[in-house]
Amino acid sequence: MKKEIEISDAAVDALLQKLQREAEASGYHLNNDRKFVRELVGGLLVNQQRYGYAACPCRLAAGEKAADLDIICPCDYRDADLNEFGACFCALYVGPEVSEGRKQAASIPERRPPASQRRAAKAEISAGAPLGKLSQPVWRCKVCGYLCARGEPPDICPICKAKKERFERFM
Ligand code: SF4
Repeated sequence: MKKEIEISDAAVDALLQKLQREAEASGYHLNNDRKFVRELVGGLLVNQQRYGYAACPCRLAAGEKAADLDIICPCDYRDADLNEFGACFCALYVGPEVSEGRKQAASIPERRPPASQRRAAKAEISAGAPLGKLSQPVWRCKVCGYLCARGEPPDICPICKAKKERFERFM
């Protein structure tokens, strides 16, 4: 039988405070529902222990970092969902209107492409598909070299946490 991963309140408090500080410093907002947020933060800590990285607590992780880079929190999809729906997929992060109670966070459709599409995009990158033949542009983090195929570079590099401005169009 699999051993349950136990997360202490102190560990949740510590990560919650860190996320709160980071959110405030960069203009983001955590959901005001503290109980709900604590559950999500607990889920991040469970995933950190289970996989070695903090995969999104609302998605099923593959358990292989290379396949889950786009859903290491904050995931690649957070900002697009904040802009369009006022909250990230899990509603851990919310936009100013939701944070100030002027709008309710609605249910958010999954923006992450299906696994087959993600695999195809990776295969295109590894095969060095010629420019113009790629289904998505490829972006490279200038700090650590991380490559990803998507419409826009991620807001934060999942490997080294460099900001979007540090990405360049690679292919
Ligand atoms: S930012 Fe992304 S990974 Fe983090 S909790 Fe929200 S949806 Fe999940």
